[in-house]
Order: sequence, then structure tokens, then C-alpha cells
Amino acid sequence: MSASATVLPEKATHQQTRTFNQQLVLRALHDQSPLSRADLARLTGLTRTTVGNLVGTLIDNGLIDEVGRGQSSGGKSPILLRVAPDGRHLIGLDLGEAQFSGAVVNLRGEILRSIHLPLEGRNGDAAVELVFQLVDALRADDRSPLLGIGIGAPGIIDTSTGTVRWSVNLNWADLRLGPLLEQRYRVPVVVANDSHAAALAELTFFRRSRPNNLIVIKVGRGVGAGIILNGQLFQGDGYGAGEFGHVSMGSADAPCRCGREGCLETMTSMRALVNAAGAVEPSITDESGLVAAFLAGVTGIRRIVLDAARELGVAVGWLIGVLNVRHVLLVGPVAAFGEDWLGEVQRSARSSVLALLARDTQIEFGHVHDDVVVLGASALLMEQQLGLGLVR
Ligand SMILES: [Zn+2]
Repeated sequence: MSASATVLPEKATHQQTRTFNQQLVLRALHDQSPLSRADLARLTGLTRTTVGNLVGTLIDNGLIDEVGRGQSSGGKSPILLRVAPDGRHLIGLDLGEAQFSGAVVNLRGEILRSIHLPLEGRNGDAAVELVFQLVDALRADDRSPLLGIGIGAPGIIDTSTGTVRWSVNLNWADLRLGPLLEQRYRVPVVVANDSHAAALAELTFFRRSRPNNLIVIKVGRGVGAGIILNGQLFQGDGYGAGEFGHVSMGSADAPCRCGREGCLETMTSMRALVNAAGAVEPSITDESGLVAAFLAGVTGIRRIVLDAARELGVAVGWLIGVLNVRHVLLVGPVAAFGEDWLGEVQRSARSSVLALLARDTQIEFGHVHDDVVVLGASALLMEQQLGLGLVR
């Protein structure tokens, strides 16, 4: 976000003005450090005195530090400043369906340490206990002050209150996960849907200039999408935007874990594929066995996986037809199937939507790998707490 995108309320209090100006300084340093105090005054339009005061406070708070001296333009060479990478640490969590993963992330968006804990069938309160265990383990031995905790979880998540309204696999309903963690750790907590978090991470690390609109489809044990419109995460009226894994496809009737039948997820998720493949080749019992059989070219398995890719492609075509978004990224364990799988999704999507729209749309694998949800949840927390994005 550019500095000018934030608007100060007309009758701002002294404290609001100070916070706003502090964010201007932080953002300038975040985008292009190192900078001198004079550079900061020029870039933010604030007076030298104001910049001097703000810089003093930010140094005292440990958010920025001095990194040596720059080129002199006549007088004394100026002291250069930057955002202190370890001035705060963040904890990012990905509450996946097979394991809970977490990482300590610094203010540069670098992952310092990751931990993965297998879920082993836990749900309800036992799954909440596992979240505590994960955060405790990540906090142990970390001496930097904690900015907060960012969480990506499957299901319908009310981000405004940190409430998991519904998460089938974890058996959580109206669970106030955010407040629970805030009480325990005394830091701000933000909770978002995992596909929404993945979309934020992909937007942050998009390898060309950042697109205004982006759809990120996460295919793992479930299927969900994160939708970025006009540079902002679109969550829908009830935080359920992108839940197209539970849209009936008409062509299927398998029971879905949501209680209905024939959802897209029952045909295209990794869970569905492992089950279907296991029925043909009993030796296949998990995702890695499935991927290995697919890559080895086992005929029956290739057919199952590519048929599913075509079904997913039809659904992707619907999204393109509805939103006309030109960048669609596919993320999650399905990326292991590689180009053959992707090609099938692309062909199917393109043939199910207006040729003109299809021609302009790029459907690719995502650019962020394993930590896409952890980084997305961290990005959301950074934006909320400091008004900063992660560094690309
Ligand atoms: Zn369903």
C-alpha cells in the first residue's frame, strides 16, 4: 500500500496524528531503507523536527535502528536508518488438516524457525490444545518482543472477531480462537481463512508487478479460493468468499464431509484422489504414494488425477467467467502433480469460458511454496498492527 492510500480522519486527535505519522516513517523505511532523517523528511513531507521526534521514539521502541553513515553532501555524513529486522517477531500459524505448522517470522518477512505438529485425528478442544503447544514451542528461547500471532485456518472465519464460525475437519463451531489466544499470550491475534491467507501471501510475493486482481485456489485435503479484488482481500458478506469446494457439480453424488453430496471437493481434493486411487491400487494410502504413482505414469492413476483436474478446470472457468480476473494461481499439495496436471486444468478452464476472457487469463502454479499460509497470516498481522506489508 502506498503512503497516500491511508487517509487521516478530518478531526484527528493528537495521538491519531502521531500514529499516522509514525506509520509514514516506518513505511518509508520499510519500502526503501536505509534512509537518513533528511531523506525521511523529504519522502514523508513531515518537518525535520517531527521526523527527529518520531525516529527517537521508534528507536526507543526497538522498531528501527541505525546502520552506519551515508554519503555526505557537504557537512557531516548522515546517520542511516532501517526497520530493525528483529525489533519484533511474529508468529504465523497454518492450522492444516493433517498437521499444524507454525513459524517465527521477523519484520523482513523472513522465516527464522518452523515447527510442524501432526494433528493425528485431534479435533475440538484437543486441537485447541495443540495450537497452544505449537505457540509455546515457537516462543521458547525467542527473546524478541512478540508483535502478535497471525493464523490461517480452514473453514468460515469471522476475521473481525477472530471467531472460527465453522471448520468441519477440526470440529470447531463458533470457536473464539483469536480471543482465546489473546488472553493466553497477551498479544494481538488475527485469524483468517487459510485460502484467504494464501492469496495475501501470493499477492505479496507476486513475481511481476503486483496485480490488482488475483484468484488463488488452494487444493489440498479441501478446495478453497482466496480472492483479491482491487488490491484487497475480498472476504464476502459472511467471510465465506471462495468456498467453492462445497458447490455441487451436478455430475457427482459422493457424500461430502459438509453433509451434502457431489461437492467439487469430493471429486478434486487430495483426500478424494487418495481414496479413488486406493480403490484401484490398494498400495496407495496417502498423498505421497498417489503423487509417486502419478509421476511414474501408472495408467489408472493418471486417468483418475487428470479427470479430477478437468473437473477443477470447469470450476476455475466459472470463476473466470464471473470475475474476469486475469491471474489465477493454484497452490497446495496438488502442485506436486506438475505440468501435466496444470495443463489439464488450463485446457478445461479455457474451454469452459468465453474465448476472449480465456485468452487473457493466466493460470499458473503459485510462487510461494510450503509456507504460503504462514506467510499470508503474518502479512495480515503486519498490515493490521504496523500498516506494513511483508518485504518482497
Ligand atoms: Zn461439501
